[in-house]
Amino acid sequence: MNPDYDYLFKLLLIGDSGVGKSCLLLRFADDTYTESYISTIGVDFKIRTIELDGKTIKLQVTGQERFRTITSSYYRGAHGIIVVYDVTDMETFQNVKQWLQEIERYACDNVNKLLVGNKADVIAKKVVDYTTAKEFADNLGIPFIETSAKQATNVEQAFLMMASEIKSRIGPSTASNKDTGGQTINPGQTTSIHQKSSGCC
Ligand code: GDP
Ligand code: MG
Repeated sequence: MNPDYDYLFKLLLIGDSGVGKSCLLLRFADDTYTESYISTIGVDFKIRTIELDGKTIKLQVTGQERFRTITSSYYRGAHGIIVVYDVTDMETFQNVKQWLQEIERYACDNVNKLLVGNKADVIAKKVVDYTTAKEFADNLGIPFIETSAKQATNVEQAFLMMASEIKSRIGPSTASNKDTGGQTINPGQTTSIHQKSSGCC
């Protein structure tokens, strides 16, 4: 088995409904954008391969869907979690604290986090200013970036930032971080490999 990538990272997009998680995912994976509500089943799971420092990184991104709760196993399998709020909606920023608590409760201790303030193109209606969010993120030691899925501003950068942080945490590519759960597969092992429910990244 010779995978065509050096790393496989699982990313999650979480945050209040309507902040633009699906739009960010579509912009990143397909470079498309639609104003209308995205209801297509399965749209919130995308894969894109990127190059970083000469390495091929496969990013498997899941966006949390409106009517589907993300279970603890989703959180546990994630290498990186992007918490999204809407810069035109103060409540979605205030709720970031709750989303971070979810991460504390369910995700791996060392999971990489990134705070994203989306809809930065709507300057006239902006209510969460950059400095406030930046200070909040700095205090928690979380990287922060403002994006616009609509205008394709900083979307690529956000995902690259995340990939780069995970890559430096994980270190050099080894056989074990090429497979999905990060666990080692012994040569000759014939039983199917299940991702350990308690397995961390
Ligand atoms: P989700 O519930 O977090 O997945 O949110 P969606 O991705 O479905 O986005 C909700 C709506 O917000 C979309 O239908 C768009 O109209 C709007 N939207 C998303 N991203 C942007 C953005 O970057 N700029 C602007 N102006 N509107 C956005
Ligand atoms: Mg969505």
